[in-house]
Amino acid sequence: LEESAKLATVLERLGDRLAAYDDWGQPAQYIPSLARIPARQFAVAACLRSGQTVTAGSPEKRFSIQSISKVFTLCLAMGRHGEQLWSWVGREPSGTSFDSLSILEAHGGKPRNPFDNAGAIVTTASLLSGREPKAALTELLDFVRYLADDEGIYIDNEVAQSEAKTGFTNVALANLMRAKGTILEPPELVLGTYFHQCAIEMSASQLAQAGRALAFLPLAPSAISVSQRRRVNALMVTCGLYDQSGDFAFQVGLPAKSGVGGGLLLLVPNQASIAIWAPGLNAKGNSKVGIRIAAHIAEEMNWSLYS
Ligand code: GLN
Repeated sequence: LEESAKLATVLERLGDRLAAYDDWGQPAQYIPSLARIPARQFAVAACLRSGQTVTAGSPEKRFSIQSISKVFTLCLAMGRHGEQLWSWVGREPSGTSFDSLSILEAHGGKPRNPFDNAGAIVTTASLLSGREPKAALTELLDFVRYLADDEGIYIDNEVAQSEAKTGFTNVALANLMRAKGTILEPPELVLGTYFHQCAIEMSASQLAQAGRALAFLPLAPSAISVSQRRRVNALMVTCGLYDQSGDFAFQVGLPAKSGVGGGLLLLVPNQASIAIWAPGLNAKGNSKVGIRIAAHIAEEMNWSLYS
């Protein structure tokens, strides 16, 4: 109770703090339907273990979760393929941009980790094997709705189409992996599924709810086991913000996953699941103000993995 009151005070003061920021970054320019979103806006929703939810900004406003979806796809892929998954995708930080072609080629077409685009294209492909894209997307959407305990979560088709038209680097990544045999499905089918997965729309409230299962809420082991949860958290620490993951661990010290829609899912293990959104990005493709909000909350609440 004390904790939620303290967080409520921190979040109440957030709006005034943010008003003083001049540089909110720039929304993703390479996805036309994201490019036109005004940068100066934000949302925070925090679900605490006690059951309380504390919010700030526009917690009900829906945004494109983009790469945050990779966390949910990874959970399903781990459940579907077990240890075999790691023969197709590594678990090391890449130290390169999220869509780097050269690091993929340097490693013989095996992606460094499941959160870079190449790695997520592989986990998405692994959900397809032997079935239609529609079936894989339905499973993913049902899983996210189950985690969020909310049936009202959908894919924004316009965003998916928009990215399909301009996602040339992802096309190159998928083709390289098909050529090397990392994926066996037709690249266009895998990419269609991947773009739709990235186009899932959620509010900060819904995303924070869904994140509870990765932070503190015990689930049936068939949904997410304890060991899977720990592994996903570890990958969020090492790879969740691409080539800014080290800096984020240094500044904030908590597992997180970003998306080019400006979202950030921040976990406080055993304590809280926090969704943050501010659509302007920095040069690494992570939410510029979102990271500042995460750092501020972690500091004020004295939350860190590192004692
Ligand atoms: N859909 C985006 C892409 O493939 C996801 C990237 C991201 O959110 N970092 O480029």
